[in-house]
Amino acid sequence: MFSNVDVYFLAFLMKNLCNYLGHALLEGFVPHTCMSCGVPITYYGHVAGSCSFCVMNWGVFEPGIVSSTLFKERMNCIWSAVGFRLEDGCARTIVHKCKYGGDPMLVKKLGNWIAERWDAPPDNVVLVPVPIHPKRKLLRGFNQAERFAAGLSEVWGVGVDSAGLVRIKHGTSLTGSNRQDRSHALKKTYGFNKRINKSNMAPVILVDDVLTTGATLRECREILELRGRFVLGAVVLALA
Ligand SMILES: [Zn+2]
Repeated sequence: MFSNVDVYFLAFLMKNLCNYLGHALLEGFVPHTCMSCGVPITYYGHVAGSCSFCVMNWGVFEPGIVSSTLFKERMNCIWSAVGFRLEDGCARTIVHKCKYGGDPMLVKKLGNWIAERWDAPPDNVVLVPVPIHPKRKLLRGFNQAERFAAGLSEVWGVGVDSAGLVRIKHGTSLTGSNRQDRSHALKKTYGFNKRINKSNMAPVILVDDVLTTGATLRECREILELRGRFVLGAVVLALA
């Protein structure tokens, strides 16, 4: 009675209808609101739980020469991608929630968002998130840079190597310190995981949540390059 085309069309229609009704039902039970300003939003009209008005206030970086020049001032590399400027207000709220909000899905969704806006890196690269100390990971439940890398990887289809670097020192807070102090404090903070890197020599793209002076990324690059790995570039969620 039905041709093949009709059946596919009906299936397509049913799938979208179910999707729509499901979301409409969910919105009835749990109204979705913007995590920064609290206005109601639809399931589709947001970026990782923030309304379009708040996203407009993030100071989003467009892929291009201006963004990469700003990035290169802090870390001179071939390849880079960056989400938004870390300014007081919505942007700072969202970064704070990624770190301390206890929601690993939020930072992963932001990874998806950046990966959809920026061209994928060469497919032979591997994403290496900047590690946090195991004690901190235990307390927080996740490493935000790792979840961010997972979100990027989902869209770009490149691998993630979460164990390539390890954090040795615990509790070095860099907030508020200047460029020189930061570099000094970071010495011997990170280490190289010999066991993991033996089998994987793919070019690296470092992943972190916030880029301030670039000292952390430069330190991680130095550690990897001393052991013969090539660091092509880096991705960060926010540029301070
Ligand atoms: Zn909002």
